[in-house]
Amino acid sequence: MKRPIFFKPVLQERIWGGQKLAQFGYELPSKQTGECWGISAHQNGLSIVREGEFEGKSLRELWDSRPELFGGETSGEFPLLVKILDAAADLSVQVHPNDEQAAALEKNEAYGKTECWYVIDAEEGAELILGHTAQTVEAFTQKVERNEWETLLNRVPIKAGDFFHVPSGTIHAIGAGTIILETQQSSDTTYRVYDFDRTDDSGQKRELHLEKAMEVTQIPDIRYKTKTKTIIENDGCKVTELVTTNEFTVYHGQVRSYWNAAFDANYLLVSIVKGMGELTIANASYRVVKGDHLLLPVEATTFEVKGELELIVSHT
Ligand code: ZN
Repeated sequence: MKRPIFFKPVLQERIWGGQKLAQFGYELPSKQTGECWGISAHQNGLSIVREGEFEGKSLRELWDSRPELFGGETSGEFPLLVKILDAAADLSVQVHPNDEQAAALEKNEAYGKTECWYVIDAEEGAELILGHTAQTVEAFTQKVERNEWETLLNRVPIKAGDFFHVPSGTIHAIGAGTIILETQQSSDTTYRVYDFDRTDDSGQKRELHLEKAMEVTQIPDIRYKTKTKTIIENDGCKVTELVTTNEFTVYHGQVRSYWNAAFDANYLLVSIVKGMGELTIANASYRVVKGDHLLLPVEATTFEVKGELELIVSHT
């Protein structure tokens, strides 16, 4: 199939969410809308095809019944999940398991969760938590018990355009005032370490998962430096490879007028994060606007983009 498959966004309410996802053209279900799941075959927020031949079908159904769209190989579960997050308040300090740990600790999770963040927007002074300072398990535990979060957690100032690779086992939290596009393994398992002692409407604190968190946290912390790599730069566009891991490769495309793209991949996940334009595949054109999330099947991984827009593209 030489056509894009567009998905309907799945909006999720979160205690830390806000209303900024409206700028992507989404209808918000709540004043605390934290996440838009743009491309997902995870049971907690399935992407449904918006239009065309597969309208109304879920990405999970396509993955299971139409392997030819994905290069013919669809054993196991669809591996990736793409979200946009609006953090009006700080997210909890958390950590995720890797594949083996998820299999051992969780019943219904096919994958662990390595994730990465492209910062779409950040308010002045915004920051995130990435990694910790403890050199031993004893030092980590002691700081947690004594509530010494300020000296345990590593804070990083951020700005629009920054990119962070967050492997499973890394302590992290997205800070207030940021909008982030997250490309991650298809998992919804989070072990909360610290939630700033926040309570919900009914005065309840959210559950912490310290025991599991201690099992999966890297101590001492490993600093992962990502080397971004410009792969195309010309009058029409600048395309940067943000990261390549065992789980995914992620690109940022800044299209000033045109981009003739050709990927050697079984399928591509595409999210428009700024602007608008036209996507052309096999002589047919499709309008794309900020907030769109789409899948390009194996036969549609060579395409042209015209317009002024920014997009995040990923594949396994
Ligand atoms: Zn996370």
